[in-house]
Formats: sequence, C-alpha cells, structure tokens
Amino acid sequence: MADAPRDGGPLPGARADIDPDFFGYRSLLDPDEQALLAGLRAWLTGNVAPIADDYWSRSEFPHQLIPELAELDVMGLSIDLADRKARRRLLSGFVGLEFARIDASFASFYGVHSGLAMGSIAQCGSDEQRERWLPAMRHLDQVGAFGLTEPHGGSDVAGGLETTARRDGDEWVLDGAKRWIGNGTFADLVVVWAKDVTDGSDGGVRGFVVEKDMPGFSSAKMENKMALRITQNADLTLDGVRVPEANRLQHADSFDDTNSILRSTRGSVAWSAVGVMTAVYEIAVQYAKDRVQFGRPIGANQLVQDLLARILGNLTASLGMAVRGAQLQDDGVFHDEQGALAKSFCTSRLRECVGWAREILGGNGILLEYGIARPFNDAEALYSYEGTREINTLIVGRSITGLSAFT
Ligand code: FAD
Repeated sequence: MADAPRDGGPLPGARADIDPDFFGYRSLLDPDEQALLAGLRAWLTGNVAPIADDYWSRSEFPHQLIPELAELDVMGLSIDLADRKARRRLLSGFVGLEFARIDASFASFYGVHSGLAMGSIAQCGSDEQRERWLPAMRHLDQVGAFGLTEPHGGSDVAGGLETTARRDGDEWVLDGAKRWIGNGTFADLVVVWAKDVTDGSDGGVRGFVVEKDMPGFSSAKMENKMALRITQNADLTLDGVRVPEANRLQHADSFDDTNSILRSTRGSVAWSAVGVMTAVYEIAVQYAKDRVQFGRPIGANQLVQDLLARILGNLTASLGMAVRGAQLQDDGVFHDEQGALAKSFCTSRLRECVGWAREILGGNGILLEYGIARPFNDAEALYSYEGTREINTLIVGRSITGLSAFT
C-alpha cells in the first residue's frame, strides 16, 4: 500500500502542482482513512486507468479485476457487519470520488453494488438476511444489482410500478420487466422492487432479492450506450419468478423504504460527479501548461485561465456539498431534499466542467487517449440517473415552498 500523506495534502499519484482539493477537504480524514484511499488510488491507477479506454470502446466490463478489487475491502464500508464496524460516510464518499476520478463506470459499479444493493439489504433486510448476503457481497463473492426502473416507469416509478408480486403460500410470484439495471448482465442477485397485488394487501411496494438462477429470470445487455460504456446495463425479465418469503426484504413495506435508499445514494452520485470533475480538472490544467500556441502555453491566456478557474470553482463547491452531506448522513439528519440538491447541483456543475475541459483540449478533447472524451460522455449518465435534474429539482422545490409540483 502506498504511503499516506502526512498533512492531508495531495495523495500519492496526484499531480502535486495541480491539487484539485483547493480547500483541503481531505484533511478531515484520519491517517488510516487516507492510507486506505492511497491504496485504492494506487490500485486504480495501476490496473484500471491503463485499460479503461479500451474496455469503454468495446463496452465490456473487466471481470478479471473483481478478485483484486475485493482484496481492497472497500465494499459496503458504511455498513455495520459482524466483523467490520461501519466507517464514516466521509470515507465511503472519498472512495467513490477515487473510483470516479479514474473511471465513472467503475464508480457506478461501486455505487450499484455497495450503495444500492448492499444498502437495500442492510437497511431493509432482517438480521438473518443481512447475515446471509452482506458478508459475501463485501468480498464480491456475490455481485449485486438494484432493479427499480421499468420500461414505462422512470421518473414516476414511485406511482407507476408495473412489476407485480403476488403471495402464494411461502413464496411470491414476480412478473414484470426492469430497464437500465447496472451490473444486470452478471449480477448474482438483484434487489427487485415490485407492487404487492396479493388479494387483500395494501398494494405497497416490496423489495425482493432475486437470484440469477431462479427460473423465469433473464437479463439482456443494453447495447449502443454513449455513456458509462463499461457499466453493463440490462433489461431484466421476470416471468413468473417464484421467490421464497425468505428472500423478501422484511423491512421494505412501501416506496418510502425504497426512497430512503435513494436519499443516501443520491449523495453518493454527488461524490462521483466530484471525482469526474477532479479528473478533467487535472487533465485540463496539465494540457494548458503543455500545449503551446502563439509561442506560449495556452494556459497563459486569460480566457483559458477563466475556464480553469470555473472548473475549480465548480469542483470545490461540489466537494463542499458532498462532504457536508456525508457528515449529515453520519449524524442521521440527511433529508431527501438535501440528497436531491446535492445530486442535481453537482451533476449539473459536472456537465459544465466536462464541456469546458473539452474546450481547453481543442480537437484533442474528442480523442479518447487525451482523457476527456470518456468522462465527457459519462457525465451524461450521471446527470440523468438516480433521478433527473428536473425530478430532483421538484423534490427541492417542494421543500422550499411546501407545494408539490409533481403532476
Ligand atoms: P423519463 O422519466 O422518461 O424522463 C424523460 C425526461 O422527462 C427527463 O428529462 C425528465 O426529467 C423529464 N420529466 C419527467 N417527468 C417530469 C416532470 N414531472 N416535470 C419535468 N420534467 C419531467 N435504474 C435502476 O433501477 N437501477 C439501475 O441500476 C439504474 N442504472 C442506470 C444507469 C444508467 C446509465 C442510466 C441512464 C439509468 C439508470 N437507471 C437505473 C434508471 C434511471 O434512474 C432513470 O433513467 C431515471 O430515473 C430517469 O428515467 P427515464 O430515463 O425513464 O426518463
């Protein structure tokens, strides 16, 4: 493991003269937390960075890296397990940032598995269910996915779930379809959200752990994405899948429970946005210093410095919001509207930043090998998933005014 910095300064692997942590937020971390991040950064730099463009081009996931990734032991960090106490959200936030700095698809793998899937089981599962799945998921012996979105239900999935669950003795029968499910082509288990249509039920939303070899369950890779191409998104089909009652998350009784997971993972998307902003900032600064036009580095031009300062401003403001959000989560006082604002604000700033960074690189900004093209495209997915900007804005607007504008 690489040495941790002593003072919270740039981690090993950072370009020291381009410190993107302008206000020194990393100094809030303890030395052992910084050491963990340094180890993760070294691994990502050595193993993921060199192959990311190639896998992105081919739209494939490098499955061979999963065992080594498991050794880093960073999955489910903020979850209390029998043999590992929960770590601070601040740490898991910075972990997400590190993933996204190298590759946003890897950050998405981490967010889906560690946040959405493990988070659902941790938050909505019984003690027995937590014990049954979480240790294996921590070690990536089992990979998880989260199935909420449907072909006809994206933004209004809360009210419009078409996937149904009907109780039949000690089993449930699941029917329906899910779309966009990250890790969905290869996940060992998927947390599937469905509407209870059992006679006499309240029609509430329930969560089920569907295992990939259950009869009636199938997945098909979604092709031709222009963002997060390493992430394997899938269309899932549930055709009379019989799921034992033991696989129904025992504390998921309504969409409020689903929402409590999204609240926290929206905070995580903010961290991913900061990670991608960090990447494009570092690349753009270096390029502005190296690229010579009119006999001097392009970074000597006021207009280029303006773009760099704007990127750094967006990055710093977003990091501040992500850090404070993590602290509020640790204190148990993080609200829906805060998660919604962090997600929509940070991904909107990200979208500006990748455009400005691409501009600084001129034509080279659209070539994968110069480092901006992949995050430029990936930003589009971060902007739309886990609630679009409009939907998260409606959540914030409802909180500001006390009036719901959802129609
Ligand atoms: P729609 O809901 O059809 O919205 C289309 C447009 O209309 C948007 O701009 C939206 O903001 C706007 N709109 C809709 N309603 C309103 C309104 N009332 N007022 C104003 N504007 C409105 N889902 C999962 O369950 N699991 C996953 O792992 C997962 N991973 C994903 C990965 C990627 C790369 C992507 C792109 C999506 C993923 N999703 C996943 C789904 C994601 O959460 C949805 O795409 C998202 O919620 C938006 O839904 P939609 O795409 O159906 O858009």
